[in-house]
Amino acid sequence: MKALENRFFHTAIIGGGAAGLFCAGSFSAPKILLESSEHCARKVRISGGGKCNFSNRLVSANDYLSKQKHFCKSALSAFHPDDFINLLNQHAIPWEERTQGRLFARNAEEIVRFLITRAQKAHTQITCGVHVLDVQPQTDGFRILTEAGTLHAQHVVLATGGLSYPALGANPFGWNLAQKLGLQVIEPSPVLCGLQLPKNKRSLFSVLAGNSIRARVTCAKHTFEDQLLFTHEGFSGPAILQISLFWKAGQEIEINFLPFADCREIFKTHKTKNQLFSAVLGDYFPGKVAKTLLTGKDVSLANATKAELAAAYQMIHHFRFVPHGTAGYTKAEATAGGIATTELHAATLQTRRFPGLYVIGELVDVTGRLGGFNLHWAWSSAFAAAQDLARHF
Ligand SMILES: Cc1cc2nc3c(=O)[nH]c(=O)nc-3n(C[C@H](O)[C@H](O)[C@H](O)COP(=O)(O)OP(=O)(O)OC[C@H]3O[C@@H](n4cnc5c(N)ncnc54)[C@H](O)[C@@H]3O)c2cc1C
Repeated sequence: MKALENRFFHTAIIGGGAAGLFCAGSFSAPKILLESSEHCARKVRISGGGKCNFSNRLVSANDYLSKQKHFCKSALSAFHPDDFINLLNQHAIPWEERTQGRLFARNAEEIVRFLITRAQKAHTQITCGVHVLDVQPQTDGFRILTEAGTLHAQHVVLATGGLSYPALGANPFGWNLAQKLGLQVIEPSPVLCGLQLPKNKRSLFSVLAGNSIRARVTCAKHTFEDQLLFTHEGFSGPAILQISLFWKAGQEIEINFLPFADCREIFKTHKTKNQLFSAVLGDYFPGKVAKTLLTGKDVSLANATKAELAAAYQMIHHFRFVPHGTAGYTKAEATAGGIATTELHAATLQTRRFPGLYVIGELVDVTGRLGGFNLHWAWSSAFAAAQDLARHF
């Protein structure tokens, strides 16, 4: 197929995910969007467990990790959660606000359809199933080598996303291209993912795989309290996903499995009754969790020694471990790192070295916390680039 051979476009957007599609729909110049998968927005389709946590009412620069922590402010201040909500309202797409400002659609599929229709209305030729192989800056724009031929564009928007979920098309193209062009790249790592216990500790909780409890998880100065999921390899669930954003290899994690009560007080209250530890804690934990947390020390509370009480307290409130690693890119919801923000203009996301070349979305070294912040960055960075591209039309 050589259908694209030698065609010239005002703009070529590479990557038809959240950022690429939203950018395409936000300015009306005739343009092409090249997507290597057979379908656009595959991550959006499964985001938020199929409900797409599309933004967060409380968004601020503090919700993002980046080498330059103020970089995202400009784009965030030009595109607010209400701007996205207004678009959904105009298209009669239902949404809801949940706790902590999290905004969800009723169905992620509706967001995908909206993004595609909006891009098409803004004169975008969406071309799926075409993998871009290279982008070469020329004196009068860019040469874009694809599997379907070589095309030319005055402007190029790189929106090829992060490395997580390769099963959904994630690949290192954007990172490799940046390096080839001499742009600085901050080393990537999988984040918003589960953490593995060291191999010699995995048997401690393996019988609990699939159980979930509320817990408080701490790494250095960061603490999150939310649901924690026991897995075969260690832990997952929102509390762990949040902390994974801040965890560095070798750092210790502390888990408080009972953040809303003090087990010493519980033991004191029940000391006179001849009950087992696990029976007493059974009021606070589901099913076998209490027994498992006591790891063989399930004696009668009345006969418990000081050392046994202290060990139970330590295990329940201060379980410490150094993770073996993360669950990796196959299960991570995001990739930290990316093209260094020092290479980009904060207000437009245009590269400083190659006028006409823009980088948006997860490929930029801006990574959001769990809670709708990554998609909000995709929309706001895309909108900032689109505003600038519109000025050149
Ligand atoms: C399971 C899961 C659930 C998530 N849930 C949420 C959520 O609820 N809320 C939230 O805020 N964030 C969520 N995220 C994160 C969010 O989906 C991403 O941050 C967001 O999709 C990034 O948008 P993007 O456009 O930069 O990249 P992507 O959406 O990954 O899009 C990049 C696109 O570029 C294409 N591409 C790559 N290389 C090439 C090439 N060489 N040629 C052509 N095309 C190419 C890819 O196929 C892909 O379609 C979730 C992520 C995952 C994995």
